[in-house]
Amino acid sequence: MSQADNKSTSRIKAKLWGVRGSLPAPLTPEALQNQMKKVLSDYQSWCALDSSLGNSRNIDLFLNSLPRHRSLGYGGNTPCFEVFSDQQRIIVDGGSGIRLLGYELMKGPCGKGQGRVDLLFTHFHWDHLMGLPFFAPLFIPGNQIHLYSVQPELQVVFQTLFRKPFFPVELGNLGAQLFYHQLEPRRPVEFGDLRVTPYELDHPDPCWGYKFEKGGRALAYCVDTECKRVSRDDLGLDLPLYQGVDTMIFDAQYTIMESLEKVNWGHATASLGLEIAMREGIRRVVFVHHDPASSSEKIAAAENQAREYYTQQLKRAETERGAPLSSVEWLFGYEGMTLEV
Ligand SMILES: [Zn+2]
Ligand SMILES: [Zn+2]
Repeated sequence: MSQADNKSTSRIKAKLWGVRGSLPAPLTPEALQNQMKKVLSDYQSWCALDSSLGNSRNIDLFLNSLPRHRSLGYGGNTPCFEVFSDQQRIIVDGGSGIRLLGYELMKGPCGKGQGRVDLLFTHFHWDHLMGLPFFAPLFIPGNQIHLYSVQPELQVVFQTLFRKPFFPVELGNLGAQLFYHQLEPRRPVEFGDLRVTPYELDHPDPCWGYKFEKGGRALAYCVDTECKRVSRDDLGLDLPLYQGVDTMIFDAQYTIMESLEKVNWGHATASLGLEIAMREGIRRVVFVHHDPASSSEKIAAAENQAREYYTQQLKRAETERGAPLSSVEWLFGYEGMTLEV
């Protein structure tokens, strides 16, 4: 199994390389200009508070003082998630975010044709594949790319992706050597010091989330899911995906109202993730797969809606004295975010 270069840790670490769902969502020049106007206006107000603040050394201080939706936003690349430990690196999904991860890997053994990549797939919707033709390690002779899915169509998917007229380089001419592995539902596989178990999610086409475990800690990746099954009974065999988990990455493409309108579209809302997390004692939840039509302001509004729901649920649990609910640390994820579990 491959080495996670220069990343020595005994904990599970992870990085979000793409958090946008369905389609990449770059800012239009007009949207960028509007964003710049708001930032400059905020800067003027900030400097007016104290004239000594208005110098270039303080620009970082100012930018860091802004909420995410007023400054950097959440990112526009589609799903790609990196999980790593002392001994191992695993990538989940090949959305457009994998392009930048590929450049990062090229600085190590992958750039010399001596690299190994372990790449898991949740499912094969375009937003989880579209970055693969631009994943540089695939084109370097000597690299070994190991591909995994529960679904049996993995090889057919690659044969379709790397074929004219969709892409000029045919699968047989990629350079790297490809190895296909089929995972069994709910059966753990050891990748170095990481144990990985696939569990089924609720999506229009079969989709499998992954639980990563190491040294008594666990990270659950639950994207894409509509999470139609919420109760322990309904979750059945897939309940362990949400149990004994420290950090859960969860699909929150929609606001609560949108999730009621878009039944069977395959995506969830933050309140569903919070409901499960509070019941199962999940310590932290990171919401991703933001809708491509959602502006930063709209994502921030969904965050406020989730905060309201969360506070109400905790209060209700206190007054009704029902089953106890755990408090949860949660936030909406952004591209480049790193986690330690
Ligand atoms: Zn998706
Ligand atoms: Zn999907």
